[in-house]
Amino acid sequence: TGERVYNFSAGPSVLPEEVLKKASDEMLNYRGSGMSVMEMSHRSRIFEKIIGEAEERLRRLMDIPDDYAVLFLQGGASLQFAMVPMNLMGRTGRAGYIDTGHWSSRAIKEAGLFGEVEVLASSADRGYTYIPAMSPIPEGLSYVHITTNNTIYGTRYTSLPDTGDIPLVADASSNILSEPVDIRKFGIYYAGAQKNLGPAGVTVVIIRKDLAGGHLPKTPTMLRYDIHVEKRSLYNTPPCYAIYMVGLVLEWVEAQGGVQTIYAQNQEKAELLYWFLDQSDLFSTMVEPAYRSLTNVPFFLPSEELTQTFLKEAEAQGLVNLKGHRSVGGLRASIYNAMPKEGVEALVAFMKDFERRYG
Ligand code: PMP
Repeated sequence: TGERVYNFSAGPSVLPEEVLKKASDEMLNYRGSGMSVMEMSHRSRIFEKIIGEAEERLRRLMDIPDDYAVLFLQGGASLQFAMVPMNLMGRTGRAGYIDTGHWSSRAIKEAGLFGEVEVLASSADRGYTYIPAMSPIPEGLSYVHITTNNTIYGTRYTSLPDTGDIPLVADASSNILSEPVDIRKFGIYYAGAQKNLGPAGVTVVIIRKDLAGGHLPKTPTMLRYDIHVEKRSLYNTPPCYAIYMVGLVLEWVEAQGGVQTIYAQNQEKAELLYWFLDQSDLFSTMVEPAYRSLTNVPFFLPSEELTQTFLKEAEAQGLVNLKGHRSVGGLRASIYNAMPKEGVEALVAFMKDFERRYG
């Protein structure tokens, strides 16, 4: 086996090497237990400590207050698209959504199964290259849903919409822990783990506790927030190993200096790439500067042929998974927390050289 590559995958994506090494060291015998975390009862004291510590670390890193629960669930962010309306829509039967691309459209579609959906704003008119302003919120909404970072289009909220007393629900799958957030501004803040938090298989849901318990009558037990809050994510067997890995990633984030430090690193990485794109005559990016993502950077070359050449040559240099999402084409570099600055520098150096040869 050769060297590790710089992996720009949108998710599952790069994990910190230290974390993978630690998991590897602890694989056969977790801290003297004589077994792997994969082999443990989820009811054992040792696993309770693992899940408890993961929760505590996230609470510290994000400054999550006591009136919020931290849940480790399954089904990905996609199941949250259904769980959110099943548990919250009952309040008024209507919810507001902001449409900022593919994933928010999926959330909208799912919510429509359980009530009336009002699309309060959309950036579809300019190809989802910006975050739309929201008109005054109508009365009687159960909640308002946003996607804080749009993985495919490379946009992100740089200031939050003011929803007053109406709970703000956010899909933060592709930018949780990449920048500081005030969790008190949200009713629910959820994210699939497989980008910034760990491997696929666990979804983190941070929920203000008073929002649990209002589920629609036939909501399956497994899809009720109140059950998971009451049972502390142990109603049934949780994704134990993925939760353990999230714990290791959170430990790594703490060791980096926390979210502020990570944020500064992410800004530096993103600026390197955007600076190059903005001055390039060959490469281009569509996203309006005010809304540029720190974690997903889509960019384009003038032809499909050149795009294919780019991908092939990049891969030969150990720069992999740079293909854009199939719905928009082009190229995309996902530069989550675990992507070192050296990876972005290597990418920019390659792009410069590519422009010199093909520009
Ligand atoms: N929301 C966003 C913003 C995403 O990027 C993704 C996955 N790329 C999803 C939702 C879907 O997540 P999952 O596959 O965990 O259901």
